[in-house]
Amino acid sequence: MSARQILIVEDERPIREMIAFALKRAGYGVQEAADCRSARLMLADQRPDLLLVDWMLPDMSGLELTRLIKRDRDTRELPVIMLTARAGEADKVAGLEGGADDYVTKPFSPRELLARIQAVLRRTSTGTTDETISIGGLDLDKASHRVSTGERTVALGPTEYRMLEFFMTHPDRVYTREQLLDRVWGGNVYVEERTIDVHIRRLRKALEEFGHDRLVQTVRGAGYRFSAREE
Ligand code: CA
Repeated sequence: MSARQILIVEDERPIREMIAFALKRAGYGVQEAADCRSARLMLADQRPDLLLVDWMLPDMSGLELTRLIKRDRDTRELPVIMLTARAGEADKVAGLEGGADDYVTKPFSPRELLARIQAVLRRTSTGTTDETISIGGLDLDKASHRVSTGERTVALGPTEYRMLEFFMTHPDRVYTREQLLDRVWGGNVYVEERTIDVHIRRLRKALEEFGHDRLVQTVRGAGYRFSAREE
């Protein structure tokens, strides 16, 4: 198996080199970009397995870059981890709503960064079971990670896909945010429960277009449930 490729988008060279060094030592292949323009050029003909994007970049913000990546059909499946000196709750939520799959607050240790990378890759990597699950008019193909309704494909980010896959394999049961964190994020201690709500919102929004958002139900005071039955 060839090494997983990670694209680092960071203008501060010492930080970029420190990250590159730690990643290479951990066995990853590394690509480096100092601004969004070169990152986008690299993405046009190379396909990394994950992007690390700094928030503060010279030509456009890392948040804008993430939005562009997640809006583009060719790149929206790419997991993105944002690097940010902004530790405020509003900024974190903005990062996640912009499409980031996770964020790491500076200063961080290489060890913490590696743990986050592994967690994101684990939950976004392609499964091997070829099974199709159908509930309430939604079809989920575990082999291709394709979600469809009728002939139409439902476009989902990697985290929303993973969440939907969990829900569809565990329907009609209420899960608390804590349980979802554990089952969908693999017990990644760094993720806050609030993060769940952001991804639930995104998942509903993606399903809304097809009239299937009601499958993801809020159970007041308890958590969330996926069900084709009425609430
Ligand atoms: Ca920077």
